[in-house]
Amino acid sequence: MRPPVRLLGPPLDATVEIHADMAVFPGDPSPRLVRTASFERGDPLLMSELHLGCHVGTHVDAPGHFVAGGSLMGEFSPEMLSGRVVVLDCTSAERAVQPGDLPLAALGHGDHVVLRTANTLRRGDKDGLVHVTVDAIHQLISTGITVLGFDSYSLDAPEDHELPAHRSAALSGIPVVVMLDLRLVQPGEYFWAVAPLRLRNAEAAPARVLFFPAQFA
Ligand SMILES: [Zn+2]
Repeated sequence: MRPPVRLLGPPLDATVEIHADMAVFPGDPSPRLVRTASFERGDPLLMSELHLGCHVGTHVDAPGHFVAGGSLMGEFSPEMLSGRVVVLDCTSAERAVQPGDLPLAALGHGDHVVLRTANTLRRGDKDGLVHVTVDAIHQLISTGITVLGFDSYSLDAPEDHELPAHRSAALSGIPVVVMLDLRLVQPGEYFWAVAPLRLRNAEAAPARVLFFPAQFA
């Protein structure tokens, strides 16, 4: 049974806007919104068709994205993805979040955790992205976290094609919410609503992610 929660204010939107010119993970398709009907053309409606990859912008990566036989998106109910979340201040980590950068005292078993790093402060700067070490991931797993959030496209360094941090989280069954825009979200405790598109058989899905200032009983 979850503790009761009181929302204290309007939501802070941590979702990246989806548009044709946005940054995507290297090799992923750019999103396209194609007008299929318009008033200018004499159509009675404005209509569009959306083309996008599952990993566009703010999205949830299910364990099945990284390990064969891992859970896909359909196995994560809204109740599993939304709830109390602790946003940790990891902005002092230079290149990589290490175990020593994690203020673990704030965490409890079953928590959702978001790492707010220098990626948030340097938004738009593709060079020098902060990543997360495997040791830091193991530390988080050992505290019993169930969902992890991060403020760039990957927990791993761009040059590390083995994806050790993502694989470690996936092997523990932890879904990861990536590409969070945390500029408005200061470290602390929130209720967050993570609402991925309900896609059948998908290993990932774009999501709207809202943080609500909240008080927990
Ligand atoms: Zn992804």
